[in-house]
Amino acid sequence: PIHTPAEDRYEHLPYRRASRSGLDLPAFSFGLWQKFGPEHGYEKRREIILHAFDLGITHFDNADRYGPPTRGAQKFFGQVLAQDLAPYRDELILSTKAGNPIGASPYQKGASRKSLLASLEHSLRDLGTDYVDVFYSHSPDLTTPLEETVGALVSAVGQGKALYAGISNYLPDRARKAAALLREAGVPLLVHQPRYSIFDRRPERNGLLAAAAEDGFGLVVYSPLAQGLLTDKYLVDIPDGARARDSAFLSPDVIDATYRERAAALNKIAEERGQSLAQLALQWVLRRPEVTSALIGASSTGQLDHNLQALDFPPLTEAELASIDEHGVH
Ligand code: NDP
Repeated sequence: PIHTPAEDRYEHLPYRRASRSGLDLPAFSFGLWQKFGPEHGYEKRREIILHAFDLGITHFDNADRYGPPTRGAQKFFGQVLAQDLAPYRDELILSTKAGNPIGASPYQKGASRKSLLASLEHSLRDLGTDYVDVFYSHSPDLTTPLEETVGALVSAVGQGKALYAGISNYLPDRARKAAALLREAGVPLLVHQPRYSIFDRRPERNGLLAAAAEDGFGLVVYSPLAQGLLTDKYLVDIPDGARARDSAFLSPDVIDATYRERAAALNKIAEERGQSLAQLALQWVLRRPEVTSALIGASSTGQLDHNLQALDFPPLTEAELASIDEHGVH
């Protein structure tokens, strides 16, 4: 049966303005990087997406690569869109990315005009939609002139195939140059997608947070739970079904004595606040006004219910932030 979305879906989450744009994004966005390919049951995956929408998550993040196989996650999302969410397309912010390798062809990698626009066409077919809301250059490509990459993003918007432009994994210098070129072309950079968490402070240290504030683009930060390392699931062992057991992107080797010590100390700070480590970690990234949205994954609806309570706690104090720094930074 077709799912009827919850009527109270806009009463759960804050929506945050993406910097100097007109677009509000939910404090939590949902990404389909892992466990959304056909290896996993369709009904389970569908249930998670529909539950996210019922909780007010309007923003779903895809990339041509996500699966496995390549395009698997997008095709799946296209099925759910067709089956359940098509009547709500105007309430959805769908993003996709191109430029990371997806095949052997020279046009299936890199941020050339050819590669980006060919991928976007294909993504629109996968998703079964005429446009995405945000089209990203997935990674910087130092072998392609930035003008060419930016030109492709501008064309995508000009052709109505994307409403906004984004970049991901760019260091601050190149991000600022891209922002300037996009601004000149009349397509201001909406968002940048970096990795940011208690365990990964690069956006603070390399000046990306400052660049976002100055140049007026929002940050949609990915892996705010460090793929699950910033939850209590690995404190004792590696549970069955956990990403560190079965994913190519999270090696069980990182769960060593040093990790456990750090995670236990952070878990204690969370417990003293009456929340879980996952909730602390999410509240922590969202404490920064430069961060528009925390881009999370989940392998169950229970994880979503739990994680979205992260903002129900009092703000982090200076003392708590200092003690998170003491344990979270290498
Ligand atoms: P997270 O850091 O939020 O990790 C999510 C994973 O952590 C879940 O899938 C689940 O994995 C585990 N988890 C979540 N909540 C809990 C909980 N309460 N208790 C225990 N375990 C929990 O984000 P992701 O690394 O998944 O990245 C999110 C999105 O960011 C991606 O889907 C993608 O859209 C985007 N991204 C973008 C990149 C880029 O280059 N632009 C790169 C990487 C990600 P499990 O249960 O399977 O262990």
